[in-house]
Amino acid sequence: MRKFCGKVFFAMPSAFVPHRIGFLMVFSCQFWYWLGWSVYNFIYLPEFQRLLRDNWPSAEWLVNLEMFVFNFFWLLAIFSFIRTHCSSPGGGTDSWRSFVRKQKLEIYEPRFAWQPAQATWCSKCRDVRPERTHHCSSTNECVLRFDHYCPWTANSIGHHNHKFFLLVAIYTFLANIVAFATMLPMAVAIVAGWINNDPFSNSWQKALLVVVVCLQVPQTMTFSDMCRDHVAKAYRNITSVEVNYKNMSNPYDRGSNRANLEEILGKFGLDWFFPIMPRHPVSDGISFARRCEPCEPSTASMKPDALLYYRYCELGPMEESLELSVVSSEGESEMTDD
Ligand SMILES: [Zn+2]
Repeated sequence: MRKFCGKVFFAMPSAFVPHRIGFLMVFSCQFWYWLGWSVYNFIYLPEFQRLLRDNWPSAEWLVNLEMFVFNFFWLLAIFSFIRTHCSSPGGGTDSWRSFVRKQKLEIYEPRFAWQPAQATWCSKCRDVRPERTHHCSSTNECVLRFDHYCPWTANSIGHHNHKFFLLVAIYTFLANIVAFATMLPMAVAIVAGWINNDPFSNSWQKALLVVVVCLQVPQTMTFSDMCRDHVAKAYRNITSVEVNYKNMSNPYDRGSNRANLEEILGKFGLDWFFPIMPRHPVSDGISFARRCEPCEPSTASMKPDALLYYRYCELGPMEESLELSVVSSEGESEMTDD
């Protein structure tokens, strides 16, 4: 597995144009992140402080509060972005391949359908792959629990970086909302100043502030849509590919939003909210708990090889014939990059 950190500088995949120009996409995202940060901290906050000092000196603490809240969300957003870009989404491992060989596991033809506990063959990588793994045509690699290719972060989103991707969407949305809500009154005052020829409004810094506030409208709407879409899928433990499957109801649905989220974020803890690997992951991306999995024996204490054997050999693939009558109506959305 080649290293992903900085891969957009070197990778030359054959199939998909956006990944080739990944550097430009990542650079343009970074430009907007840093432009917003500079305008907020070096134009808006000093001006806001001056206004408060002149008119409501007792309310000057508001400047520190806004500075803290915005920078907190912004820092988490930028670190989540970097981790999404730099982290490998995960691929097949040697231990998985040797497990397949040792157990002489049946290898199935890949279908555009649920195939729980079935090892499938990727004709492009010429490799055997675990359940929920798909080939990403943009990076030309098989990705564990593949969700989609994100051109803005120039990386596939899979089992090992899905958490970071969710955090990018959530924290960028929150930073945008805070910046927009706090800068809007000043932007309106500046525009009113232009109309009334008020010298207060005449500087390039204030014009830049107005431009940034205007651009935050489409940005906030985009990230709001992203959050709604991807968090809704995470609540159901379903990927952007799997929402299109109709041969059975979601076999990986754990029955509650929290249990489904834990498949991506690990056991609940403070680490959920920070762009770090889950401290207590509940899956390795090679095998996944299914709703039909009995409580006993407990899978929590099983070693990785024993867990693979239990899920792929003992429990085995699910009988579709039992499921066909319960075909889910879920998932009308399309397989698209964000
Ligand atoms: Zn592949």
